[in-house]
Amino acid sequence: MMVLNYQMTYPQLLKKFREAVFGKKVFCPHCGYKKPRKISPTKYWCKKCRKRFSLTSCTIFKGSKLPLEKLILLLECFLKEFKVKQTQELVGVSRKTVSHWFQKFRENLPEVEREKFFESDIFILDDSYFGGKRKGNKGRKAPFKTIVLGLLNKSLGKVKVYCVPSLDFKIVATILNFWLPSRKVKLFSDSFKSYRLAKEWLKLENHTLINHQKRFKETNPGENVWSVMKRKLREIYHHATQKYMPFYVKELAYRFNARNNPDDAFSLLRKISINQWKFSKISVPFW
Ligand SMILES: [Zn+2]
Repeated sequence: MMVLNYQMTYPQLLKKFREAVFGKKVFCPHCGYKKPRKISPTKYWCKKCRKRFSLTSCTIFKGSKLPLEKLILLLECFLKEFKVKQTQELVGVSRKTVSHWFQKFRENLPEVEREKFFESDIFILDDSYFGGKRKGNKGRKAPFKTIVLGLLNKSLGKVKVYCVPSLDFKIVATILNFWLPSRKVKLFSDSFKSYRLAKEWLKLENHTLINHQKRFKETNPGENVWSVMKRKLREIYHHATQKYMPFYVKELAYRFNARNNPDDAFSLLRKISINQWKFSKISVPFW
């Protein structure tokens, strides 16, 4: 397996997978019971709620008949920006299977957390247009494109993106209201009408509207995000349809945010699992 950096045996792989999903100790995903009985290397039985579960049944890999090593390899290929055809040859599965799993990974990627945004951070608000036909108008006048609104936390170097139906000021204001830690944060954007109205509506004290015809310095990092994301889209997928564009945008934002310390398959699985346990009904033992 040339993609995997780690040469490991099957029991080692199982151990890493188990730790990524459950942490130190396996617990029942149905009721949270701490000592389920092991009935096979991958299957468990809970004494308390009398239900069975396997290592994969409570993860994004639920219901898959592929062997565990192939699933991990698929995830690794996805993270290493392999193209669908390369992955298909490497893993030895059909093109449809690869596309299915890549889409599933895309849907489950962790996003930047709101709790990590602080009042002392500097923010940049900008919008961009993805996909569609190349000919014709550019920017805000372009038809049939996906409108993406991005809020970049410049101090953290992370971006939160939204695919929005329009750039109505109420949509912009709702997003800002949710994501900005306070009304006093330093925020930069261009002088687009919706941004100005959102500023007035939310009474943002330190929101600077910059006239793009005169100055670029403050909003340039925002433009950089879009150029990195669009280049990646061209590199990896060449083209994405309008229908799936929101998922691709989400993936590109994830790749941008993880650019300095990229995840491997197990660390990503750990993040997804932690997110999943956070929202589950059971009281998870390791919190
Ligand atoms: Zn149970």
